Amino acid sequence: MKFEKLVRNLREKLPSLGLAFDEPMSRHTSFRIGGPVAVMALPSSAEELRLICREARNAGVRPFVFGNGTNLLVQDAPLNVFAVKTSPGLSEVRLAPDGNIFAMSGVLLSALAVFAQKNSLSGLEFAHGIPGTLGGAVSMNAGAYGGEMCQVVERTEYLDEDLEIRAVTGDEHGFSYRRSVFSDSGKIVLSSLIRLQPGDAGAIKGRMEELSARRRSSQPLNMPSAGSVFKRPVGGYAAALIDSSGLKGLRVGAAEVSEKHAGFIVNLGGATCDDVLRLIDQIRERVLKEHGVNLQTEIKHITG
Ligand SMILES: Cc1cc2nc3c(=O)[nH]c(=O)nc-3n(C[C@H](O)[C@H](O)[C@H](O)COP(=O)(O)OP(=O)(O)OC[C@H]3O[C@@H](n4cnc5c(N)ncnc54)[C@H](O)[C@@H]3O)c2cc1C
Repeated sequence: MKFEKLVRNLREKLPSLGLAFDEPMSRHTSFRIGGPVAVMALPSSAEELRLICREARNAGVRPFVFGNGTNLLVQDAPLNVFAVKTSPGLSEVRLAPDGNIFAMSGVLLSALAVFAQKNSLSGLEFAHGIPGTLGGAVSMNAGAYGGEMCQVVERTEYLDEDLEIRAVTGDEHGFSYRRSVFSDSGKIVLSSLIRLQPGDAGAIKGRMEELSARRRSSQPLNMPSAGSVFKRPVGGYAAALIDSSGLKGLRVGAAEVSEKHAGFIVNLGGATCDDVLRLIDQIRERVLKEHGVNLQTEIKHITG
């Protein structure tokens, strides 16, 4: 096995590290799609994550670090990949001395938003219904209902390509629409400081409930998906273009353009990565023909 030496070294140096072999990614993605990765490591601290990455580098292996798998479309065939999952291991969240919130990369945004609400801190209400981790959300500059991570993330500590611990503040995050300096870069988010405003706990809870209700009424939350498949094109919405191209309900295999939200592809049960990719191709072709817009995918296609 390609990772034999790496696994031996990890077992020797980190005997309590969680390791899984031939682990189906379908268990770790919100799409419920994805073949088995050769090895998956589940670190429980930033130090452990760093040691894992160091051992991987010494073995000539580039790890695939992910969070809650809610923005991933993973190939069906086995992946010769060493995956590292930050959630639920890197889950510390606390108030920092300056009143900001410190959160590690594996913290779920829903938990982070509730923590902020309980501490009467406002600004993260938008993130309550986004099912990813802090690390994934910072990396993607996740956003909803007018809020974006770039509005609240003050400072981020990360591992650079040489596995040194570094930090960026403010503009150095390079945030833009669904991107940051961490996107597709090899840099690994360890933790962030979140800057919020004092608010009324009841009002914050009310706003979170209001946004949850909006989500429930407009998104197919009862079916496996990876959220919006496409990025917002300049001057419009992907869902509106797909809907007006008459594509709601279009199916390939068990993958379907959601009847409830045309920007979502849902897994009706047993959909494959190939089903989704073929459906994406058909959507892009039709929208280009009908509207002259070349849709770009937001979800990450993982192969290996
Ligand atoms: C029902 C549903 C609704 C959604 N609604 C929204 C929404 O309103 N707004 C929105 O923006 N998104 C939405 N999403 C998409 C998704 O939840 C977000 O993009 C989220 O930020 C992904 O986080 P994750 O932890 O699941 O990342 P993953 O899917 O695990 O990974 C996504 C990418 O981030 C990288 N990554 C993850 N962790 C780290 C890390 N620690 N360091 C460096 N890179 C990392 C991965 O390598 C990968 O490239 C939705 C998804 C679903 C299923």
